[in-house]
Amino acid sequence: MSTRRWVLASGNEGKRRELEVLLAPLGIVLAAQSEWGLAGVPETGESFVENALLKARAAAQATGLPAIGDDSGLIVDALGGAPGLRSARYASEHGADRADDEANIARLLAELAETPATARSARFVCVLVVLAHAADPDPLVARGVWEGRIATTPRGGAGFGYDPVFEIPGLGRTAAELPAEQKNTVSHRARALAALGAQLVAP
Ligand code: IMP
Repeated sequence: MSTRRWVLASGNEGKRRELEVLLAPLGIVLAAQSEWGLAGVPETGESFVENALLKARAAAQATGLPAIGDDSGLIVDALGGAPGLRSARYASEHGADRADDEANIARLLAELAETPATARSARFVCVLVVLAHAADPDPLVARGVWEGRIATTPRGGAGFGYDPVFEIPGLGRTAAELPAEQKNTVSHRARALAALGAQLVAP
C-alpha cells in the first residue's frame, strides 16, 4: 500500500496522535500544519461543520495536501444551545479567542444556577471534515456526539475544558473523573473518529 500524506488543520498535538492511530492502517501519515508555519484561521462559521471546513480548506490551500479539519463544543439545552460555537471563549468579554477553562465553567454554572437537575441535559459535539484538495466540492463529514448533564459543582482533575462539570449519566462521574483511555473510547471525538474511519474504508 502506498503511503499518502495528509495535513491536520489544528495545532493540537494530542488530536494529531489520536487521528494518526486511526489513519495509519489506511496508509495515511498525518503532518502537523505547524510544519508549514501555519497557525489557525478565524472561526467565523455559523456551525461546527463550517468551522471545520474553514480550517481544512486553509490548510489544504497552503500545503497542497489533503487536509482534515475539526471543530467541537458543548451544547446545553437549558441555554438554547450555548455555549456552542463559543465554547472556547464563553467567558471572554472582549472578543478574545479563548477564556480559561475555570472562567468558562464559572460562567456556565452561574447561567444554570436556577436550573434543576432534571433540566441540565447537554452534549459535546465534534465534527471532522476531510478535503482531498482546497477546492474539493464533496468533503467527507463525520460527527460524534456525547450525551451528558451539567453538574452543579466541578469534580475531577483529568481532561480539559468543561470536563469537570460534564456528568455522564449511568456512570455518575464527570468526564474529568474518567481516565484518559476511557474518555478516549467514548467521547464525541472518539465517536467522530470512528464515523470517519467507517467512511474511509467504505467501498
Ligand atoms: P476546539 O474544537 O478545539 O475549538 O474546542 C472548542 C472548545 O469546546 C474547547 O475549548 C472546550 O472548551 C470545549 N471542548 C471541546 N471538546 C471538549 C472535551 O472533550 N472536553 C471538555 N471541553 C471540550
